[in-house]
Amino acid sequence: MIAASDEFGPGWFERGFPHIWLPYAQMQTAPAPSAVAATAGVRIRLSSGRELIDGIASWWTACHGYNHPHIVQAIRAQAAVMPHVMFGGLVHEPALTLARRLSDLTLGAGSRVFFSDSGSVAVEVALKMAVQYWINRGVGGRRKFVGFRGGYHGDTMATMAVGDTAEGMHRLFAGYLPEHFVIDLPRDAQSLREFEGFLTAHRGDIAGVIIEPMVQGAGGMKFHDAEILAGIFAASRRHGLLCIADEIFTGFGRTGSMFACRAAEVAPDIMCVSKALTGGAMGLAATIASNEVFAAFQSDDPMKALMHGPTYMANALACAAANASLDLFERGPVIERARAMQAKLAAGLAPCRSIPGVADVRAMGAIGVVQLEASRGIDWLRSRFAANGLWIRPFGDVVYLTPALTIEDADLNALTAGINTVLAEWSKR
Ligand SMILES: *Cc1c(COP(=O)(O)O)cnc(C)c1O
Repeated sequence: MIAASDEFGPGWFERGFPHIWLPYAQMQTAPAPSAVAATAGVRIRLSSGRELIDGIASWWTACHGYNHPHIVQAIRAQAAVMPHVMFGGLVHEPALTLARRLSDLTLGAGSRVFFSDSGSVAVEVALKMAVQYWINRGVGGRRKFVGFRGGYHGDTMATMAVGDTAEGMHRLFAGYLPEHFVIDLPRDAQSLREFEGFLTAHRGDIAGVIIEPMVQGAGGMKFHDAEILAGIFAASRRHGLLCIADEIFTGFGRTGSMFACRAAEVAPDIMCVSKALTGGAMGLAATIASNEVFAAFQSDDPMKALMHGPTYMANALACAAANASLDLFERGPVIERARAMQAKLAAGLAPCRSIPGVADVRAMGAIGVVQLEASRGIDWLRSRFAANGLWIRPFGDVVYLTPALTIEDADLNALTAGINTVLAEWSKR
């Protein structure tokens, strides 16, 4: 089981908690967070000694489960040689090997990888690249992006502006953000034609289209078909726009293919990855640009260079972790397991359909979603799941599972059964 580790000294929670500011939390009313002592596989061990089965994989990062020995060993080995070195004027093997592997796995020949340390920054870099692509080519006016309602691309100012500013968690900032075109995601042939009409009307203003392929994650776990994605890409191409695929949620097997773009056979001009890139061990992100995008930055003019460089870009520990995670995808049937999980999630969650207050159940790859009719009792649900030994964090009007791709059937069954039980109680409240 999980090894104990209590070297923190007594009272660390009581003494430290008054100094911490937590994410997405009303600090005055939010229930106190649980103190974690250790993780292993799909288990989170609390300081109290209780264990939770993890249904979220720490915001879907820990795709091979926590503390995978191959990843831990890679970080250890890298730490012994060089935890970090600046990436300006210097490079190192873990970063160049990872760039080659990511390039091969995503946009292919001639593509280039720009590293950063979080998903939001990877998207910022993608937006900056797209705007500068047009400037470098001497095309004026193309400064706006098309994003989609229900989309989520990060928490920083530029990424909030291409997400759902009308209804999403960032609506408070609507008036402060640059205005882009955030429109309904096409759902059928008719709305695809309307989308194309929209592009025709505004093409001179638009630098590119940004989309989470196949699944809008943190904005509500909403799925769309491969044909819709292909239609959006085709229309954008016809108007000469850059297609930016934000695969930060979908990348690395989550939807049942290594990348969601691959399932729909679309080739973005720029792709963003992060989250599961290091198997959940370290913060790392990459913005991958096609050969054509990169070519627009090739010049004898220094002003045409990409003016960006996060201090910790291509951190060697994180690159080593990411290379180790990619090894695991190569060595075992991880993707196959993710694909096979779809039927298990669908079957395990199907009985929820008959619970009053549940609108829908859906699954894609290793994503299982119970759609509620309305957001109600979210804090109650969270605490009931924890009381049942499960780590499940519903938000808005969805209860979802994004477990490690390697989770055993017994643990997956415990998660889906727990959702059935707790939602049945919830419906009677
Ligand atoms: C999580 C996420 C981001 C932001 O990543 P951070 O590392 O939290 O900045 C952006 N896009 C998508 C699709 C995500 O799921």
